[in-house]
Amino acid sequence: RGLAIGIDIGGTKVAAGVVDADGRVLAEARRSTPGADPRAVERTIVELVDELSAGHRISSVGIGAAGWMDLDGGTVLFSPHLAWRNEPLRDSLQNLLRRPVLLTNDADAAAWAEWRFGAGQGESRLVCITLGTGIGGAMVMDGRVERGRYGVAGEFGHQIIFPGGHRCECGNRGCWEQYASGNALGREARQLVKTNSQEGRALLEKAGGDADSITGATITALALAGDATSRELIADQGEWLGLGLANLAAALDPGMFVIGGGLCDAGDLLADPARAAFAKNLTGRGFRPMARIELAALGPRAGMIGAADLSRVSGRAYS
Ligand code: BGC
Ligand code: ZN
Repeated sequence: RGLAIGIDIGGTKVAAGVVDADGRVLAEARRSTPGADPRAVERTIVELVDELSAGHRISSVGIGAAGWMDLDGGTVLFSPHLAWRNEPLRDSLQNLLRRPVLLTNDADAAAWAEWRFGAGQGESRLVCITLGTGIGGAMVMDGRVERGRYGVAGEFGHQIIFPGGHRCECGNRGCWEQYASGNALGREARQLVKTNSQEGRALLEKAGGDADSITGATITALALAGDATSRELIADQGEWLGLGLANLAAALDPGMFVIGGGLCDAGDLLADPARAAFAKNLTGRGFRPMARIELAALGPRAGMIGAADLSRVSGRAYS
């Protein structure tokens, strides 16, 4: 009774799980996100639901996807990392799956999970940031997910933080997610190893010799194993993270930031520089209470857990 399937669709991975009413994951499956074709993503979702519903009684399905949903939760308006443009995803999936489907943004799902079951429990003004392919942003205010007037609030990753800077997949230049995300870490590392510097050459060797195969995950693993250059690269991401969080605190004054997504595997190698940059850049510092910055407690499962739970309680979850 009360089981739901939650599916987290990111720019690179699709992660699905059977989740009970207490947020426990009973079974899991994952795939890589199929490229440019929205129909292929639908097929992957159907496959995952078929696979996971064998042996469990599922009452609903929640999809948390890396895209901008309309307020009604029926249509993906836009996605910087995926092919959806005005895609009526919920109805297609309900027809294919013959079950109630809830559609929400991936970061909204992760924020909800962290607030209900994870690091954000009890916080009345929670901002959640997920660092993966891009930056996801979401707010849980007084126990409800705040989605703005048209459903697309919380797109913090596309705040222009460096005019004229790196090109973003949304088409603009200088978006925050080009400076603090798994993809940004990978890009910085690939650029470094292509220089003729001593650090670059040493890092290339440690990473296995093929510059183009280096990703954020490669660098995170090397940093955790003690590599100094990889630690510096992660600290740079942490500084950009803290700077952006200071801007968000100026606008939103949350009690807590929860930081999730794949880049969080770096733990305090990321969070400590972020906390320092936050304290250094926060406006009015010294004369105001400071929001806490905590790592997500549910790790990579936050999105699937939140999507599943939202499919169960959605009426109560949204403001
Ligand atoms: C998208 C968001 C998404 C985030 C994380 C951003 O680029 O605009 O909608 O939540 O990436 O996947
Ligand atoms: Zn952008």
